[in-house]
Amino acid sequence: MTLLVGGVELGGTKCVLAVAKSPIEILHRAVVPTENPKKTLQNIFDFFSDYELNRIGIGTFGPVILDSESKDYGLLISESKKGWKNINLSREFSNNLQVDTTIDTDVNAAAIGEYRYGVGKDSQTIVYVTIGTGIGGGLLVNGKSHTGDFHLELGHMRIPNADNFAGICKFHGDCWEGLASGPSMEKRWGISASELSEPHPAWDKEAELLAYGIVSIIANHSPDKIILGGGVMKQKQLYPKVRSEVLRIWNDYTPLGNLSEMIVEPGLGLDSGIVGALILGGGPAQI
Ligand code: ADP
Ligand code: ZN
Repeated sequence: MTLLVGGVELGGTKCVLAVAKSPIEILHRAVVPTENPKKTLQNIFDFFSDYELNRIGIGTFGPVILDSESKDYGLLISESKKGWKNINLSREFSNNLQVDTTIDTDVNAAAIGEYRYGVGKDSQTIVYVTIGTGIGGGLLVNGKSHTGDFHLELGHMRIPNADNFAGICKFHGDCWEGLASGPSMEKRWGISASELSEPHPAWDKEAELLAYGIVSIIANHSPDKIILGGGVMKQKQLYPKVRSEVLRIWNDYTPLGNLSEMIVEPGLGLDSGIVGALILGGGPAQI
């Protein structure tokens, strides 16, 4: 009997759950809201309880301990999502489902999904950035996520803030996430990002702010693919605007190649994260 693999994309607002034969052969999927940990985890365990699973891959919001040698592997260490500090995901799954987990950040998981099955197939250095409720970024080098000593927190880098806008990051105020996430757009313009009209000057400002962060990513990591996802990027007009702002700010310092191929939409649409989580779960014959 072929054992199935499980995947969890644990997001700030919702969790996507899947059971699959392989990362792209999903047999059963569900979405549950991310509420308090007790209720949310119970919903997740109920979903998986009918299956005999080899392993579950989890892409989660952070900050989370990813050192697999640590006794705290899978521990969420901050109140970035209210109530979740000190929850150990690895322990919860092994205690409740008797299954082992492989855990990475949500954005590393999305990058892994894109590398294996999406627009990153031929790329050696991929960055996946989500611009939504927050900003997060994951980096893969030759298909392997780069976590460094802890893990990357690209959303909390500093970028220029010429207007001295206060920003919304609870920790830093005007970091990249504080200045350019969906909620920060709402604070800046007084209307939710999804309701801002396409010709609104907000989108030029947003493209400039996103480009500052992307130029820093280019300077630090020299990626050949930067995938931009998340709710704010539903505004498709941002892609060409971001590319031209990156060109302007980088000022031809090194050749960037064809930016339409370098700065792109996710090839898997909204599924990059759950597909990546299933890859982490080590489904049959695809790692
Ligand atoms: P999360 O970051 O919680 O995982 P999303 O990536 O969907 O979820 O991001 C949600 C945020 O994206 C919302 O708070 C809103 O600011 C923004 N957003 C959602 N839809 C749109 C849209 N159509 N246009 C612009 N911004 C949007
Ligand atoms: Zn911050």
